[in-house]
Amino acid sequence: MDLTPTPDQERFRAECRAWLTENLPWEYGVGLPPLFEDLAEEVEFLRSWQRRLAHAGFVGVTWPSAFGGRDATPLHHYIVQEELARARAPELVGRIGVNLVGPTLLAHGTDEQKARWLPRILDAGQLFCQLFSEPDAGSDLAAVATRATKVEGGWELHGQKVWTSYAQFADWGLCLARTDPDARKNRGISAFMVDMRAPGVDIRPLRQITDEADFNEVFFDGAFVADDQLIGPVNGGWGVSGSTLTHERGTNPRQLVIHTQLLDELFRLADERGLAGEPQVEQALAQAFVELRLFQLQNWRSLSRLQHGRELGPEAATAKLYWSEMSQRMHRTAMDILGDESSLWRGASDNPGDGRWQRSWLYYRAASIFAGTNEIQRNIIGERTLGLPREPRPA
Ligand SMILES: Cc1cc2nc3c(=O)[nH]c(=O)nc-3n(C[C@H](O)[C@H](O)[C@H](O)COP(=O)(O)OP(=O)(O)OC[C@H]3O[C@@H](n4cnc5c(N)ncnc54)[C@H](O)[C@@H]3O)c2cc1C
Repeated sequence: MDLTPTPDQERFRAECRAWLTENLPWEYGVGLPPLFEDLAEEVEFLRSWQRRLAHAGFVGVTWPSAFGGRDATPLHHYIVQEELARARAPELVGRIGVNLVGPTLLAHGTDEQKARWLPRILDAGQLFCQLFSEPDAGSDLAAVATRATKVEGGWELHGQKVWTSYAQFADWGLCLARTDPDARKNRGISAFMVDMRAPGVDIRPLRQITDEADFNEVFFDGAFVADDQLIGPVNGGWGVSGSTLTHERGTNPRQLVIHTQLLDELFRLADERGLAGEPQVEQALAQAFVELRLFQLQNWRSLSRLQHGRELGPEAATAKLYWSEMSQRMHRTAMDILGDESSLWRGASDNPGDGRWQRSWLYYRAASIFAGTNEIQRNIIGERTLGLPREPRPA
């Protein structure tokens, strides 16, 4: 492995660690993340956290300094993620902007578009969402049916998106819409930045299995999108979306962060319940420990490629498949350790974690669906890594 840190990287780690020790909101120092009564309250809290983290220079470190980054290497980014994990810091509320929309704009935006949107992404001054999936276009994203029709000075959107995370808090959404209905499926799509507060945009939250509503249906009824909000060429949206999806599936330090913390908590929970020495629990914890270590090694392999300026290949699909199944196994172990209490919810007495374990277990059912389902990841591994015969594609 060629990831031995340089003195500069060691210094950067020390700087990041010292800042976190000084500034981390006290609630996150130990235990599972705090529960908020209200999602809006949580979003506000996390926005102010991201603002402080960004102003200290620890968000988007690989971005160009002209847009608030540090021109740093992928290894620097990885160091920040490791330190956030070590400090048990909360996830970025603006992660869709930082991890998906920002890199897509860097790759495909004009200079004006970069100057317009990038600076407010890192400090969560504006929040962004991803308007890709539709009721009949999820795994088969090329089937998007939302239409963008050319009008004077821009485009008019009609159609429906679904599963749009954090749309109700977003200022802008990166949207795929069909601009040429006669072209072959993926050739007639364009990408737009949509003002989520514009007339003709209707956002309806969807209540999830966790009893929360962080994703939404979004309806467009004639919403206007100006010409300068087109990202990339007309009918070139498929290439733009490819950049977004590569970033969504490609790098997983965030999941390493979350699951490293989760394993610590699993050990603590087993200890507290006097089950740490029980053979089945011991075996499940050892298994989780080994899987997390393997996931770390997969991350290092990807990091090594990125550090050498190479693109991630189909191994991104292996990593997504691996961590999502690892996560679901770890959560199942948590439920086994909780035993009868696993069926309790918030507010119940004698419920370790006051429902956080149960919420996390339910939430991570989604891990094998979002960012491309595990069946799709298996197709990618089969076709592009193992060279198995390709699934016939519809014309
Ligand atoms: C928590 C969460 C957050 C999300 N956030 C966003 C967001 O912010 N923005 C956004 O655009 N989308 C978002 N999504 C949507 C997500 O990308 C889609 O759910 C996902 O791509 C699957 O699409 P689908 O739900 O339409 O399922 P379908 O594509 O309808 O699939 C249904 C089932 O069929 C299987 N299947 C489909 N095609 C194949 C095939 N070719 N081979 C084998 N099996 C197949 C699938 O694996 C799945 O089991 C989110 C989803 C979740 C769960």
